Amino acid sequence: MAVSSRNLFLSAALVLAALLSADAALAAELTGLTVEVNEDGSEQVAVTASEEIEVQRSFTLTNPDRVVIDLPEFTGSLSLPKKYKGVLLKGVRVGKFNATTSRLVMDLAAPATLQNITEGNPLIVGLKASKPVAAGGAAKAKVKPEETKPLIAIDAGHGGQDPGAIGLHKTRERDVTLAFTLALRKALLRTGRYRVALTREDDHFIMLHERVNLARQAHADLMISLHADSNPRAEAQGLSIYTLSATASDDEAAALAEHENKADIISGMDLSTTDQDVANILIDLTQRETMNKSTIFADAIMESLHPKITRLSRTHRFAGFRVLKAPDIPSVLIELGFLSNRRDEKLLLSPEYRELVVASIIKGIDRYYAAQ
Ligand SMILES: [Zn+2]
Repeated sequence: MAVSSRNLFLSAALVLAALLSADAALAAELTGLTVEVNEDGSEQVAVTASEEIEVQRSFTLTNPDRVVIDLPEFTGSLSLPKKYKGVLLKGVRVGKFNATTSRLVMDLAAPATLQNITEGNPLIVGLKASKPVAAGGAAKAKVKPEETKPLIAIDAGHGGQDPGAIGLHKTRERDVTLAFTLALRKALLRTGRYRVALTREDDHFIMLHERVNLARQAHADLMISLHADSNPRAEAQGLSIYTLSATASDDEAAALAEHENKADIISGMDLSTTDQDVANILIDLTQRETMNKSTIFADAIMESLHPKITRLSRTHRFAGFRVLKAPDIPSVLIELGFLSNRRDEKLLLSPEYRELVVASIIKGIDRYYAAQ
């Protein structure tokens, strides 16, 4: 028996080797690229090749704005068609990224989001101009006096196919975060001191890096990401504030960050590793100062919390939340409370409690700017 399974293994290895060398001999070739410009301003890029095109990963980068799509190894080159009539693209290039990956880069003429990618032949890439959902002052950002007001980006956690944590009575985190976000926007605009941009104002899914991109494209001065927690210990309750750190302040914070970061996987594209190297470089540069400011911002909110608001012990914690990785915007993530706790779940649905939290956050923002 041992001999025959060994033989089987050897022949399988030979077949595999033969397949691999055949593959290498016939490296697939990219053959063409066309762009269709749609009436709604979106643009569809179609890439053809000698065989089906699979996508290893895709993401957007800023400074300069570009869309990156990693493919298995392909030969051939691509460029923007001469008769291109769109506005989003500046150029297209493809090159060898490493032994097994060819990298397709679309240089953007204007900030755009990756709307969809359909693998196949052709590979279809949908692009749409980014328009961060803005309210009040943000929409009028180009009007002079408005421009001096700080722009606060509020990010309602989760949304769409990603409900987030589910409460004891089936309360969905995505709904709680949206309700708090809309209330905070309203109250912030009412002060007359701030402009507001939202990453979402309805129930739809946005990837974590896209949330960061939206805040950056809006030139936000501060970013607040709102979430509601869940914990196997039903007695865990209270609000907590997180800022970014390469190492988590404790195991619980690490587990929470891991959980929140999974939001991207739900959409079927795991981007959790793709911009890790980019993220690390950014942390080492601009982010150090931003991280300090984020800590000051978190402390300002903490000091402004109404005494009636229950806080989790060690209210200000640190962890590697992806949504906090804007390299130039001081950002905090607030876990508003625990949906797994009976009392918290009730509070998170109460308009009075919501107003109390919203007022405290605004006080914190005021305090942050007063100290600048
Ligand atoms: Zn969450």
